[in-house]
Amino acid sequence: MSDVIVIGAGLAGLAAATALSSQGAEVTVIDRKPFVGGRAYSYEHPSLHEIVDCQHVLLGCCTNLRALCEDAGIGDKIRWYDELTFLETNGSSTSIHPSGLPSPFHASPAFLRASMLGLADKVGVARGLVEFLRGYPADDSESVAQWLKRTHQSERAIRHFWEPVIVGALNDSFENCSTRYAGQVFHESFIKSAEGGRLGIPKRPLSEFYGEVARQAQQQGTSFLLTQSVDTPLQRDGDRWLIHLEDQTLSTENVIIAVPFEQVQRLLPAELNTTSDLIANAGQFRNAPITTVHLWFDREITELDHAVLLDTGIQWIFHKSRIRRWPASAGSYVELVISASHPHLKRSREDLLSSSLEELAMFFPAVKKAELRKSGILKEARATFSVMPGLDKFRPSQKTDLPGLYLAGDWTQTGWPSTMEGAVRSGFLAAGEVMDSPRRFLRSDLPPQGLMRWLSK
Ligand SMILES: Cc1cc2nc3c(=O)[nH]c(=O)nc-3n(C[C@H](O)[C@H](O)[C@H](O)COP(=O)(O)OP(=O)(O)OC[C@H]3O[C@@H](n4cnc5c(N)ncnc54)[C@H](O)[C@@H]3O)c2cc1C
Repeated sequence: MSDVIVIGAGLAGLAAATALSSQGAEVTVIDRKPFVGGRAYSYEHPSLHEIVDCQHVLLGCCTNLRALCEDAGIGDKIRWYDELTFLETNGSSTSIHPSGLPSPFHASPAFLRASMLGLADKVGVARGLVEFLRGYPADDSESVAQWLKRTHQSERAIRHFWEPVIVGALNDSFENCSTRYAGQVFHESFIKSAEGGRLGIPKRPLSEFYGEVARQAQQQGTSFLLTQSVDTPLQRDGDRWLIHLEDQTLSTENVIIAVPFEQVQRLLPAELNTTSDLIANAGQFRNAPITTVHLWFDREITELDHAVLLDTGIQWIFHKSRIRRWPASAGSYVELVISASHPHLKRSREDLLSSSLEELAMFFPAVKKAELRKSGILKEARATFSVMPGLDKFRPSQKTDLPGLYLAGDWTQTGWPSTMEGAVRSGFLAAGEVMDSPRRFLRSDLPPQGLMRWLSK
């Protein structure tokens, strides 16, 4: 096997490096940050003196990410939940969880009992889900906003069901998300099998968690050059690529550029036509932000590990002290997640904190009595790219027309939205391309269960 340099130690780069080094390739991974994991990272907050990260969840249907974790020996460091709790400000709670019924009916009893929806809303939701029963559209031109209108979804069904799931999973407004990817979320995680919809949350801070994947790559012979930025376009030197770092130039037969779309433009050798297309296409992507509010209370404010908070600005609560199994006496550490947080980017910390606390107390009255020991707000302006209608044609393949030059990253052609699973898929696909066997490292999707074995396309 030849030598490979991977630029970017996010999940895409880590997946490519572990796959290739497992086959004996000589792999070097370069990243400008001091840690691996890319956007899925944690760090010690300088004034809070706490290790913080922005909550990252996976689903049972994330087969490639799960395989990456299992191969690195951290499969058991993911806490899995079968139940999704939706809370209303009036104190009502709906729990969606699987029953013994065969898929696609596994969650039907819980859904029929759901107090957050009226009968007409449920009929509309069921009618909508039927559209994704056999699969989801291959074409990505229709927006979710158009789809909701076309399938006559009620205002309450939108607020209490479609919005929390779609905005939570795709991180943008209905106008900026294509039905193809919303359909994929519902088909893979609500309809096809109960396992596909399980919610997985790493039990450890993200850099510690994904550090184990890097350790596995290292054991297989991969070298890491961290705090090294590639700031100039790659250069061709015969049949090799030259990569200029601050104090050295590396030469390699194969290079995988595994950086986000907004970073790729300055690394590509722009004089080549193919890459000029890539540069233009990368300009079609847009980022969407996520804001998280971190709160440390002196006592436990709820016994729930996580929940969807309906009709508020703070859409999800993750009770990290419980997820990490801290003793109740340590108080509550909770993270509130605001997806697609464009309107909140310019709000002051004080303003965001006071409205979040007020909203949180509507669901958990214990907040009013608890003492807030510490708080922090993290704003990630470039959290994900938006799967805007029509974007698919601009997502590049992992193989470029240039020999030895490959791309990876959640934004490349993965068939998935901007997620950790998409990133890992892109890394496995790029590694496969390097070995002239594109799908070699890619894991299969979960098989359909129950009646879905006959109904799924
Ligand atoms: C707040 C937040 C919450 C999220 N929640 C979820 C979630 O719940 N579930 C989920 O599946 N996904 C979630 N995501 C999305 C997920 O983090 C990304 O889709 C995924 O991590 C992207 O991985 P990547 O390897 O493609 O890119 P990145 O993680 O961005 O990695 C790219 C790497 O390239 C490096 N790099 C860039 N330019 C250079 C250069 N010039 N030289 C050297 N190195 C360079 C960067 O430092 C970085 O480490 C979330 C993201 C954020 C920010």
